[in-house]
Amino acid sequence: MSKFPVIIDQKKPIELLTAFLQKGTIPNALLFTGIEGVGKRTIATMFAMACNCLSKEPWSFFQSGNQATKCRICYCKACVKIRSGSHPDIIHIKPSGAYIKIAQIRSLRDMLAMKPYEARIRVVIISDAQAMNPSAGNALLKVLEEPPARTILILTTIQSSDLLPTIVSRCQHIRFNPISCKSLEDILVDKEGLDYDDAKIVAILASGSLSKALSIAESKNRVSWINRRSWLINTLNLDMPGQMSTQPVVSLLAFAAELSKNKEILQDSLGVIKSWLRDVIVYKSCPEKIINKDLIDNIQHVSQKLTARDLIAKIEAIRTAQKGIKAGANLRLTLEAMVIQLAYEPQT
Ligand SMILES: [Zn+2]
Repeated sequence: MSKFPVIIDQKKPIELLTAFLQKGTIPNALLFTGIEGVGKRTIATMFAMACNCLSKEPWSFFQSGNQATKCRICYCKACVKIRSGSHPDIIHIKPSGAYIKIAQIRSLRDMLAMKPYEARIRVVIISDAQAMNPSAGNALLKVLEEPPARTILILTTIQSSDLLPTIVSRCQHIRFNPISCKSLEDILVDKEGLDYDDAKIVAILASGSLSKALSIAESKNRVSWINRRSWLINTLNLDMPGQMSTQPVVSLLAFAAELSKNKEILQDSLGVIKSWLRDVIVYKSCPEKIINKDLIDNIQHVSQKLTARDLIAKIEAIRTAQKGIKAGANLRLTLEAMVIQLAYEPQT
């Protein structure tokens, strides 16, 4: 951790952790859940520092600002070691390849059988705990059933249902929120120097994840996402509603095929189309509140042609496709159905 972390929009987790520290009642195992890039690992490391800091000042490392929380920089021996990743009793376990393997949990168990070298409280952070294969999960369960002295385990994952229920039930569950668009925009403007309009678009694309927002904000990625947005909107002919019904089906099917090729960014691409449709609706009553401000001419044009009802039906078509995809429906067929609903004017 070279740059000192800023944690945003995680008031509740921070209050819970601070209460454990103040009361001296720290559970043996914590489970941090939430989407990628909201600060789970960062807060786990900060918590390890709070548990082991040697400074005489009481730990006030979670200083609450308005929405951002800054970590106090402490230069005591323990905090410096933890920050640099060289503390012998702060153990990080993460997937090796696709999985966390049983060998990793066995060697953890051997380490935990010994006393901590120097920590007041040893902290084991298991990142992406959902990557434990069943045998690793069962081996970890044994550790949780007989918790070693002066040791806390912190597991991170996206949702608790990704883990064995027997593991979840032995952990104190702490939920991390997606970061609000407004907070992401502020960070992008203040810390990354983006202009306000760009920050709005990037914040939408990031869907609540700070790490994703920072990655998109890099100018190379930003340009490619802005190009992708043009491609999505132009291909669907959403900016030329008069021509919607003349868009040949074959080119729409090709578009669905193209979308299905890039699974990693598919949900984000659908999010882009949704944010644009939302703008067309919003434009009708509050034009100043649209997100894609650089596309205002298109948005104005389309909002005159389509009714709010048509637009809501299109947004609904995307939502249905997103749900279907998450539930494992046939990707290509789902996208084809969605694209056709999007491109053609509803028959009323
Ligand atoms: Zn310290």
